[in-house]
Amino acid sequence: MKHRCPICKTATDSDLHKDFPFCSERCRLLDLGAWASETYVVSDPVFDETEVEKSGSETDARRKRNDTVN
Ligand SMILES: [Zn+2]
Repeated sequence: MKHRCPICKTATDSDLHKDFPFCSERCRLLDLGAWASETYVVSDPVFDETEVEKSGSETDARRKRNDTVN
């Protein structure tokens, strides 16, 4: 069974990699560590500056709404 390493996108093969679907123990531990510290989404390469700006303004809007309620 072939797959891609979720960390570095290297092609992996269940017959060849004992840490499948990760390419190595290093990537397997990186993935576990990322989930444990909840930085998985932040370190996602899909995230670009536009997304960061958007989430920033959403936080501002939420803060203003809270001010109105209080
Ligand atoms: Zn990898």
